[in-house]
Amino acid sequence: MGKPALARQICEGTEPAPRPSLRIYAPSAEMTAAANVVLSEFAPVEQATAEPAFRQLDPTPELLAELADASERLETAQPEEIIAWAHHRFAPHLTMATAFGPEGCVILSMLAKVAPETYVFNLDTGYQFQETLDLRDKIARLYGIEVDMLQPELTVPQYEAFHNGPLYKTNPNQCCFDRKIKVLRAAATKHHAWMSGIRRDQSTDRARAGIVEWDKKFNLVKISPLANWTKKDVWKLILDENIPYNPLHDQGFPSIGCWPCTRAVSEGETDERAGRWSGTAKTECGLHTLEQQDGSGI
Ligand code: SF4
Repeated sequence: MGKPALARQICEGTEPAPRPSLRIYAPSAEMTAAANVVLSEFAPVEQATAEPAFRQLDPTPELLAELADASERLETAQPEEIIAWAHHRFAPHLTMATAFGPEGCVILSMLAKVAPETYVFNLDTGYQFQETLDLRDKIARLYGIEVDMLQPELTVPQYEAFHNGPLYKTNPNQCCFDRKIKVLRAAATKHHAWMSGIRRDQSTDRARAGIVEWDKKFNLVKISPLANWTKKDVWKLILDENIPYNPLHDQGFPSIGCWPCTRAVSEGETDERAGRWSGTAKTECGLHTLEQQDGSGI
């Protein structure tokens, strides 16, 4: 049997030189930095968990055609069906603005059945009647819908101090613009569609309202489930279903806005909005008119 290879090498004096012992050198700062750069290139890709950024709708020809088609189809639908369509098409980016008028209370009662999670807000100018504010709490208790009170940048004392007095006396268009329109514009940037309680028979401005339409003033789809209803239809439902309403309606106020710009109407006054901005040419706060980009046409 031959000698094992290493023994033979020893005998022949050809064995390999002993290996130097292994020494471990601490890496230099440069090596560590270079290694970190390489490692970072192989870092696991983090899963995107954030919601995609919200984008407002663009009034493309396709969207406008869809809205016109929906509006035509819903022309004979019941308000609850219109609300259900709006919820199906636009939730969670559907919202509703209410001033707690009879129409708003009717829609809130329907929303409670169809889509109670809908975000509802009120433009809280700081000049609302206490009865209106109390109604908000009553509705929250009854329907579980907490209407969000959106306020303008300046409180009433700050605003009046800035303008050397109440602006509703001297420039109500600007006052409505600052305390309603601007607030709605800010709210609109977070939604795709809003519902309002306007009826076509309320005024000539409102007579042109579609069931569904593009609201270019606020860059939103506007849905008016009660556009086809009459005042009588609204009050019949309120009485039939015991829907809460503003007690001021029983004291001669058919339409209620801010207290400085609302009065009770006298018997014989047939225009239900006669008590709003009475004695001036102003008839609307500007939320539901089509033109104007500033306060001048409100
Ligand atoms: S309704 Fe009167 S008080 Fe209210 S925001 Fe308009 S002008 Fe001002």
